Amino acid sequence: MPDWYIGLVVFIYGAVVGSFLNVLIYRLPRGLSIVKPRSHCPNCKTELGVKDLVPLLSFLWQRGKCRYCGARISWRYFWVELATGLLFLGIYWRYGWSWDTVFYVLFTAALIAAFFIDLEHFLIPDGLNVFMLVLGVARNIVLIEEGNPQAWVRVAGWNLPYALVGAVACTAIFATIALMGRVMFRKDAMGFGDVKLARAIGAMMPLKLALLAFAGSVALGAIVGGLLVAFTLKKQSPAETTPADTTPTTPPEPIGQMLLYSLALLVALDVLVFFYDGVRSLFSSRKASATSEAEEEFVPGLTTIPFGPYIVAATLIALIGKPYVLALWDAYWRWATGGG
Ligand SMILES: [Zn+2]
Repeated sequence: MPDWYIGLVVFIYGAVVGSFLNVLIYRLPRGLSIVKPRSHCPNCKTELGVKDLVPLLSFLWQRGKCRYCGARISWRYFWVELATGLLFLGIYWRYGWSWDTVFYVLFTAALIAAFFIDLEHFLIPDGLNVFMLVLGVARNIVLIEEGNPQAWVRVAGWNLPYALVGAVACTAIFATIALMGRVMFRKDAMGFGDVKLARAIGAMMPLKLALLAFAGSVALGAIVGGLLVAFTLKKQSPAETTPADTTPTTPPEPIGQMLLYSLALLVALDVLVFFYDGVRSLFSSRKASATSEAEEEFVPGLTTIPFGPYIVAATLIALIGKPYVLALWDAYWRWATGGG
């Protein structure tokens, strides 16, 4: 089979996964079921047929409108499908036909969902973070990290300690940042959703690459954040110079509680609770779970600034541009230490 043909198949597969991600992005933060009801227009409630569900093409054919009532459909649906197709292609291009591609493609899908949900709702659903963490641990059980210098953690296909070290290290770093932000700015500068995301990335990727991705996310946040501030200040008239703080104002968490919760995240206690709740809801009546869903709906997340999208973007860059990112770091390191 020619390369372009496989590439096209991977892209189409990504776009199809992207249209499923659109369902997740809408339903997960609203506490709705992922499987039922079937996809329908949010305006006229007409159930969508096969013709309406062709990724990318349906949107273009219908010019971003519902075929039944003419209501506008968000461009997000199109961008998510396109981005997923292209990123899947990028992963395939980097890792070829391999187990790495299988794991990284699923990881990428979850990252895309986290990106758009955090952007809109200022939170990352626990389900996504747990999924990525489990995926990262599974990857390191199945795979041996190629070119992994820490061969001491590798026992014939058993690379689990490596995933756990990565998860714990990244949790510790982000929990420390969250705690320091709390101490210095007296508000929750970083939410625990970000800490859980960092933990999953630490389990999934080689530690060095994960740390480089985090450094990249800070740089990306500074650049994009700076541009956004400059742009909004420029648009405002001089009379109203102080930009309104649009971040939801929730009282900061008590520091002791944050410390305890950080420790719980470090030993993945929250993952146990997540699965316990899942098992319990299987046995409880549907009515009971429906009321608890309604109660939990739209509790403002602990995240007050959505930093998640920056982490996601930098992680995807590191994942797909792996050799370039590592080479860039090596060049910087040689320069900084005065060698060559
Ligand atoms: Zn409609």
